[in-house]
Amino acid sequence: MGCWRRTHYSAEIRPELDGKEVILLGWVRDLRDLGGIRFIILQDREGTVQITVPRNVIDDQTLKKTELLQRQYCIGVKGVVRAIEKAPRGAEVIPKSIRILGVAKQPLPIDITGRTPADIDVRLDARVLDLRRDESQAIFRIRHKILEATRRFLSEKGFIEVHTPKIIASATEGGAALFPIAYFEREAFLAQSPQLYKEQLTICFEKVFEIGPTFRAEKSHTRRHLTEFISIDIEEAFATAEDVMKIAEELMCHVCKVVKENCQRELKVLKHTVEVPGLPFKRIPYDEVIRELKEEKFEIEWGEDIPTAAYRILGRIHPYFYFITEWPTSLKPFYIKPKDENPEVSEGFDLMWHWIEIASGGTRIHNKELLIKRLKEQGLHPESFKYHLKTFDYGMPPHAGWAIGLERLVMMHTGRKNIREVVLYPRDRFRLTP
Ligand code: ATP
Repeated sequence: MGCWRRTHYSAEIRPELDGKEVILLGWVRDLRDLGGIRFIILQDREGTVQITVPRNVIDDQTLKKTELLQRQYCIGVKGVVRAIEKAPRGAEVIPKSIRILGVAKQPLPIDITGRTPADIDVRLDARVLDLRRDESQAIFRIRHKILEATRRFLSEKGFIEVHTPKIIASATEGGAALFPIAYFEREAFLAQSPQLYKEQLTICFEKVFEIGPTFRAEKSHTRRHLTEFISIDIEEAFATAEDVMKIAEELMCHVCKVVKENCQRELKVLKHTVEVPGLPFKRIPYDEVIRELKEEKFEIEWGEDIPTAAYRILGRIHPYFYFITEWPTSLKPFYIKPKDENPEVSEGFDLMWHWIEIASGGTRIHNKELLIKRLKEQGLHPESFKYHLKTFDYGMPPHAGWAIGLERLVMMHTGRKNIREVVLYPRDRFRLTP
């Protein structure tokens, strides 16, 4: 690169810069020869710009350099802007000098211009190249905006960001979905949720949030399950399910607004739209969901978990955001509080977007004896939870919280059907590379 430093991004090359010398840094997206003219489409993080090489005007050395170029070469171009109506954005750059900064072996495994579409597995195998596609760029910019908006929203609501351990000694919610790891002379596990730590932290910070990785040994190979995903968790002292549901719906509204207002360019690339939902979201008790499903001739009994096919029906009836509340206690994890007046029904909820579960949460049990009883009822050993249970002797406040799956949220905001599209390097039962 020598002393060359970028003076402009591609998207900043406009007719007003006519005659100005610029330095651009980026990658060769496409090359086209048209008789006496060669076009190099240079791509950087902001977009593309046309580099035009009129053979009879350019000096021999620069011309020879352009002939060496291949798709995805990393290059620097020093040249002069020329306003020209026919060029995209009304301007192009005539090179004075070109530097090759990195070569790309041909043929490339995928065509990032999209002219030859590739299967998702082929794309994921060449992920870094795939991430240069316009759609990928749009997805990860929206993902960034969602994260930025979420952090700001929760901070402004008084939550403080925490990071809890991801290497743990025993199961959070039961052993089935845990990944065991060799931890020196012992066995440890990758955390399947920050649940217990975030509950404990309400004792000292009252309102906490965490945005971090969680690991699930999910056997189900679906388009909405990963073995490693990012969970957005909150936990709040002196709060109930209804209190934290309000935070969840306000957050959803806020994020939709931010994406709608700031990501129009990206949404256009993705051929997708995002609407800001009205408040409050519908709260549909589990009872009513069962009734609705039966009316649709779907066979399901009270107490059964809701299968994917049933969610698809619900998604048709309730097309945007809605909560499913008052779940049977038996279907919820041990820490979800049963209702005082009817313990068969819990204060747990799920937040749905169309047919996809985005979040789940609830009022937590803060009575130690009841928690031990629930652990036993779910076949778990209170001894394995002794450190967690001990914190209930230090003045545990009543508390509630939820967990949102970031990737599911991004999937819905970007209109993608496969969760792997919205993760840089997805991990599932069959994919551990790259
Ligand atoms: P599901 O029933 O869809 O498998 P879950 O009930 O196991 O989800 P929770 O344990 O309640 O999910 O996790 C909270 C949120 O984390 C979910 O609402 C979802 O958005 C997200 N989530 C859970 N499991 C996964 C996964 N394997 N991959 C991606 N996101 C997930």
